[in-house]
Amino acid sequence: MAPSAIVETTSYANNPILTPTEPSTAISKTPILESASPSLLHRSLFEQPQTVSSASGSYLTLHDGRQILDGCGGAAVACIGHGNEEVMAATMAQMRKVSYVHTLSYTVDAAEELAHLLLHNPSSTNAHDFEKVYFVSSGSEANDAAMKLSRQFFFEQGQSQRKYFVARRQAYHGNTIGAMSVSSFVARKIPYEDMLLPYVSFVSPAYAYQYAQASESEAQYCARLIAELEAEFLRLGPENVISFIAEPVVGATSGCVASPRGYFPAVRKLCDKYGILLHLDEIMCGMGRTGTYFAFEQEEVVPDVVVVGKGLGGGYAPIAAVVISRKIVDGLRSGSSVFNHGHTYQAHPVACATALAVQRIVSRERLVQRCAKMGQLLERLLRETFGESKYVGDIRGRGLFWALEFVKDKATKSPLPKAIGFGLGVQQAAFDLGVALYPGGGTVDGVNGDHVLIAPPYIVSEADLTTIVRVLKEAYDLKAKSLEGLDF
Ligand SMILES: *Cc1c(COP(=O)(O)O)cnc(C)c1O
Repeated sequence: MAPSAIVETTSYANNPILTPTEPSTAISKTPILESASPSLLHRSLFEQPQTVSSASGSYLTLHDGRQILDGCGGAAVACIGHGNEEVMAATMAQMRKVSYVHTLSYTVDAAEELAHLLLHNPSSTNAHDFEKVYFVSSGSEANDAAMKLSRQFFFEQGQSQRKYFVARRQAYHGNTIGAMSVSSFVARKIPYEDMLLPYVSFVSPAYAYQYAQASESEAQYCARLIAELEAEFLRLGPENVISFIAEPVVGATSGCVASPRGYFPAVRKLCDKYGILLHLDEIMCGMGRTGTYFAFEQEEVVPDVVVVGKGLGGGYAPIAAVVISRKIVDGLRSGSSVFNHGHTYQAHPVACATALAVQRIVSRERLVQRCAKMGQLLERLLRETFGESKYVGDIRGRGLFWALEFVKDKATKSPLPKAIGFGLGVQQAAFDLGVALYPGGGTVDGVNGDHVLIAPPYIVSEADLTTIVRVLKEAYDLKAKSLEGLDF
């Protein structure tokens, strides 16, 4: 990704926006010239992101002519690569037909067809009972809409005492007040902590590498997590809980963490026992990224509501969706029949036509299947290349969604000192060598730990995948070497 990712994953303490006297030293970006201070508010007042002048396939071209191999599609967004002519033609065609109408009075074919394709996708392998789709412009909006819809579902049944959302620590669901309230991306929440939604509680992440005990089997770890979740439901009074919210494969916060086997089916059972809705966040891991159309298809579970985003428009349009089960729609149907929510740009015609073109390409070219296949190659390359690396504690992921977690000591799994900024350093070194990756800090608990995330387009070639891993190793070696002789 463009190095702008650095600021959002840097901790609060190192965030130059919030500690203006201490610009981050971990990164070497061009300082903004006083005389050329941009009007655009970037993520940091101190650093000017790289200007990209064009992008095609798996490559970005910077304004100085440098080519960057996009090993992360931004934040796992660019699933069909950049500069696709067919998508551009579809966007233009929609603009010629109708670029905007308000959904209070109008609809367009593109929005109807995209919703239909999401529910009846040939790449989707498992049976589900989704009935409706609601389009918004961002992942955060999608989570907020799903939270409001879930609350309304109970409200209309006379269960207005249900106010609580239960989510997991080390999860990200968005930056609007609602979505941020159920997130635990610690650094992003600090200035707002005392004004977020009050009825939210958190349980442990399902993150075996750091949190399963050495003596525990996978089944025992899973049982412990489920017992904790049930205890939390009981503490709140399960009749007071609206939904449990989780990412099937955790994205930015901890780096491609899948839950232990059996976890989601057991969560589903627990939710059903107490009439609590299951809300899955597939904004990052969905739309084929993990090798199945929905990430939950690998979990033997079907949620009541699932949100998708990044890969839906593949970066060609700002669009996300709430995919809604028959159960929730039936709840509305037997109540007011009106979702008490709305946005000016919901189901935007151009965004929908653009995403429809992206999704038609994904289906026609069997890119979800390709993602799964190329994922096997990526896994093999990563394991061969980093299996013996001193500071690589865990290599994990699915499909074309992989992360390396860096540790100080593979035996204890203790993280590297935060001050070293190892993950950011690896990302920056890789970028200087021509490969964009998505770094992450606070991997373990929101403060400590580092990872780097690899999420290339589904169309990535074998040669480019090999280059991504080779360059990542070079970058890792540079950073590992810089630790030699240091006492930490
Ligand atoms: C990116 C992301 C979001 C937020 O999406 P935006 O489009 O940035 O608002 C929510 N959940 C997950 C899992 C994400 O990765």
